[in-house]
Amino acid sequence: MDFDIHDLPSPCYIVDERLLLKNLEILYSVQERTGCSILLALKGFSMFSVFPLVSKYLKGVTASSLFEAKLGREEMGKEVHIFAPAYIEEEFDGIMENCDHIVFNSFSQWNRYKEKVQQQGAQKISCGIRINPEYSEIETPIYNPCYQNSRLGVTLANFRPEELDGIEGLHFHTMCEQNSDTLERTIQVVDQKFGPYIKTMKWLNLGGGHHITRPDYDLETLVRSIKWLQDKYGVQIYLEPGEAVALNTGFLVASVLDIVENGMKNAILDTSAACHMPDVLEMPYRPNVIDAGKPGEYPYTYRLGGHTCLAGDIIGDYSFKEPLNIGTRLVFCDMAHYTMVKNNMFNGVNLPAIALFKEEQGIKIIREFGYQDFKQRLS
Ligand SMILES: *Cc1c(COP(=O)(O)O)cnc(C)c1O
Repeated sequence: MDFDIHDLPSPCYIVDERLLLKNLEILYSVQERTGCSILLALKGFSMFSVFPLVSKYLKGVTASSLFEAKLGREEMGKEVHIFAPAYIEEEFDGIMENCDHIVFNSFSQWNRYKEKVQQQGAQKISCGIRINPEYSEIETPIYNPCYQNSRLGVTLANFRPEELDGIEGLHFHTMCEQNSDTLERTIQVVDQKFGPYIKTMKWLNLGGGHHITRPDYDLETLVRSIKWLQDKYGVQIYLEPGEAVALNTGFLVASVLDIVENGMKNAILDTSAACHMPDVLEMPYRPNVIDAGKPGEYPYTYRLGGHTCLAGDIIGDYSFKEPLNIGTRLVFCDMAHYTMVKNNMFNGVNLPAIALFKEEQGIKIIREFGYQDFKQRLS
């Protein structure tokens, strides 16, 4: 990091535009080499102040709800796609106004909205069905859309070829933080099960979970897989990664508020796993902290915890070369995706500020939050 973290408020997310650009260039190269379209999944990263940059590289966004679709339309202004397990009747007009592609999770949803979509004349909306190929290499059930009795997507046994009239694409999303070898094996299953239907489609959406911007990601297998589908079926290929767009582009800067003893040293921070990095508890995982090691690796080991009342609001155990003091700043890595979009104000804890580092202008604080943001969501 070549900027001074003491120039930031605490706690604060900071996204480094140079790192985002590196990811966007990799994603752009995949589009250039294959002709596929890559969409940003807003669910993972919705920091719209960088959308003008993202829009130069990607084809648009994919949304999970009307609000995300509106945000994508307003702030990116390119293609907007949507998938949700079920649509809310009152929101469907808004969805049609804002979306170019609508993916339905079931034939029952498709039949419910088919007429509405077809009557909607002005801009033509392309409709798709999400399939469940019943093949996924994700081992955590909460993230596995092919888990037993999953509500996500139509399995082959439940597929209704006779109701495909008007459907132009198929969509599957079965991956999470995975490399392209998983994609290649998934495509084999999709091809075997749904090949005859893909033949009649205009497009195929391969969902998200592609860890394309990770250093060890095998781009060649991705490119080969996309080209294979294009050659075999003549379909337009879409990918909709969230995490891969913002992977390793942002940090969360926080400070030590107190240090308490109980069998070991606990450092209480002005951030919280429960409020500001919920995937640390949900996934769960251990974020890297700059200049810190595993417990015992360096002389001073601490358990880092949040300042909410939740006993389990623990980020993890880390060791440091120097003792921590009240006011010491810590930097958590890879905090741009699935953080700002999942944050909450549990315990009345304020949200971290949001800052952007740009080559030309250095650090800029984009947004700070306060009491009104907390009160506004309550009644
Ligand atoms: C979550 C999700 C994505 C994005 O997944 P990432 O793991 O962030 O790449 C894309 N499409 C659908 C349908 C999703 O549910």
